[in-house]
Amino acid sequence: MLIISINAGSSSLKWQLFQMPAKKVIAKGMIDRLGTEQAEFKVSYGQGQKFKQTEAILTKESAATLVLTRLKSLKIVEHLEAIKGVGHRVVSGGEVFDRSTVIDDHVLLQIENFSELAPLHNRTEAYFVRVFRDLLPQACQVAVFDNAFFAHLDPINYLYPIDKKYYDQYQVRKYGAHGTSHRYVTLRAAELLDKPVTETSLITLHLGSGASVSAIKSGQALDTSMGFTPLAGIMMGTRSGDIDPSIIPYIMEKEHLTDVREVIKALNNQSGLLGVSGLSNDKRDIDAAAAAGNQRAQLAQEMFNNRIVKYVGSYWALLGKTPDALIFTAGIGENDQGVRLAVGQALAHLGVKIDPQANDMRGQERLISTPDSQVKVYVIPTNEELMIAQDTYDLTAKE
Ligand code: ADP
Repeated sequence: MLIISINAGSSSLKWQLFQMPAKKVIAKGMIDRLGTEQAEFKVSYGQGQKFKQTEAILTKESAATLVLTRLKSLKIVEHLEAIKGVGHRVVSGGEVFDRSTVIDDHVLLQIENFSELAPLHNRTEAYFVRVFRDLLPQACQVAVFDNAFFAHLDPINYLYPIDKKYYDQYQVRKYGAHGTSHRYVTLRAAELLDKPVTETSLITLHLGSGASVSAIKSGQALDTSMGFTPLAGIMMGTRSGDIDPSIIPYIMEKEHLTDVREVIKALNNQSGLLGVSGLSNDKRDIDAAAAAGNQRAQLAQEMFNNRIVKYVGSYWALLGKTPDALIFTAGIGENDQGVRLAVGQALAHLGVKIDPQANDMRGQERLISTPDSQVKVYVIPTNEELMIAQDTYDLTAKE
């Protein structure tokens, strides 16, 4: 059965076509600069074949149509009817969805209604659901919510210690993000540990441009570092992570700003690695500059590691026992051995020992702790697309 996973942004469309249940990627591609005359259409398929073209792709309809037309013209699929399921990444499922769901008219309306919680995403994602429903009427459309994995947090962990009316009236709470990635690595870690997932306790570190840490108890999320929005938690590429909110009016006063959104924008786009280093939001640039002796880059590196260690320590305490494993994933987690080593060294007193040789590799799934480490440490490359395809396949097969 062919299943396509869709990850739609405001100016990009990423997709992967899977043969399920074999989990085989048949083709994958993306459209960048969607909505412009110079959109870039890229596909890779078959035995390393590639197709790339820059052309005008002005609307979401034409983007989706083009993906499907090219699937046929490049002979990746013979008939579009072979695509039985379309899995959509949806950023916010509000408080309603605790799992992936087949999209009917009611679900689609709910996705649109959560737009307030994810203004940049949900509306676009819902729009693409409508487009793909029109183009592939025979296929089952499935929503895979980014925060569903955190729907069962205990109120002790998801409520903020503020007047409860803000939750009761406006649902101000921790929603979390990157749930599909934390769930994927949790399932994979249980396989690697050879334990039932329901008996697996982990601390999972998704360290990409956006970054979050989760505590996983008995295979379920117990707590996570992102909050009401993805601005909370550890330090990121351009986001500050946790700060004292009183900083906001103070900066406004000092900088003579009248619109609070300007400060929130700075916290989202000009902070984190970029803000501290003054150089770049890309960890590779920070590492190179730090190695060359740039002190602000060194400070950014150390602060980045420090925020991770603080969260891991607090989640370790919250779990109430030594986790079965720590998991590093996403761009930085998978590729940056310096972060893994520094975090491991900071946790040495808790029995963590990183094997420098196993750590000195990029990308592939592996154990990086020593045999005498009291907790295992793994690198597990994340695969949100496969998780989306798997959920979509499971629900499509049931329909
Ligand atoms: P997203 O999907 O959130 O855009 P990724 O998971 O692709 O992000 O992670 C992007 C981050 O990974 C960037 O900060 C990038 O610098 C970092 N990264 C990628 N490769 C390396 C590497 N070899 N060493 C350090 N950081 C890396």
